[in-house]
Amino acid sequence: MRLKDKVAVVTGAASGIGKEIAIVFAREGAKIAIADLNLGAADATAKELDPTGERAIGVGMDVSNEAEVDSGIAKVIEKFGALDILVSNAGIQIVAPIVDFEFAKWKKLLAIHLDGAFLTTRASLRQMYKQKSGCIIYMGSVHSKEASVLKAPYVTAKHGLIGLSKVVAKEGAAHGVRSNVICPGFVRTPLVDKQIPEQAKELGITEDQVIKNVMLKETVDGQFTTVEDVAEAALFFASFPSNALTGQSLVVSHGWFME
Ligand code: NAD
Repeated sequence: MRLKDKVAVVTGAASGIGKEIAIVFAREGAKIAIADLNLGAADATAKELDPTGERAIGVGMDVSNEAEVDSGIAKVIEKFGALDILVSNAGIQIVAPIVDFEFAKWKKLLAIHLDGAFLTTRASLRQMYKQKSGCIIYMGSVHSKEASVLKAPYVTAKHGLIGLSKVVAKEGAAHGVRSNVICPGFVRTPLVDKQIPEQAKELGITEDQVIKNVMLKETVDGQFTTVEDVAEAALFFASFPSNALTGQSLVVSHGWFME
């Protein structure tokens, strides 16, 4: 067990990548808070992990809402008595060309990805600094490193997370806190499934062409990255035995992007 009795909050963990990270962390002995906008799904995921409610709880939280984040993180600390790992993972996707991008949608996407990362980080660091240790993991993307058409706010936000993570690595070092970013390629989750017809419409191509020529074209083997792949990378960062590994980003993308 590589995370025995560590306390982890995973945002956006009622679905997709976040859910798999929660499953893997629980398997490795962690106590888990499933923090999600969708409280019903968060509670259901927590029950799947631990029907007794002793080692997994659901926490309703809009990560872009300051009061909800602060009270949600407080609830986790009250329940488990500590906070060792934050996985800032909650996210959405909205695709459109810049010239047509609605300002309200731009702001919504940036708020969930960037305000959400900041607010959950701030609330977690206040506890981690008291404990003099902690690990923060941001869910970036290949779009933290590279751009694609139709994804202006997403690419902007995902690049921004790398900047935030580096500051957390520098400020957190004196308090035993490390910070890193995982940058996955395309993973078949609801977030990606929703984009396939949307991109087909915007680009005037078939859904199959979106998968082959847009999503997987740059990979070395034409394969989607899986939730399991990303969860393994999260476990690697979370269980790394020293604070040497900080301020870094790791691309897990079948070669979609190479450093
Ligand atoms: P998903 O849609 O399966 O899950 C996202 C979860 O976030 C959902 O449970 C949703 O309820 C929750 N959420 C949305 N807005 C929220 C908010 N304001 N507050 C709290 N929770 C909220 O998506 P996913 O594919 O698992 O994506 C998870 C993360 O991984 C995102 O940050 C995404 O950008 C990133 N990512 C995904 C891919 C991919 O191909 N799927 C690739 C790279 C990075």
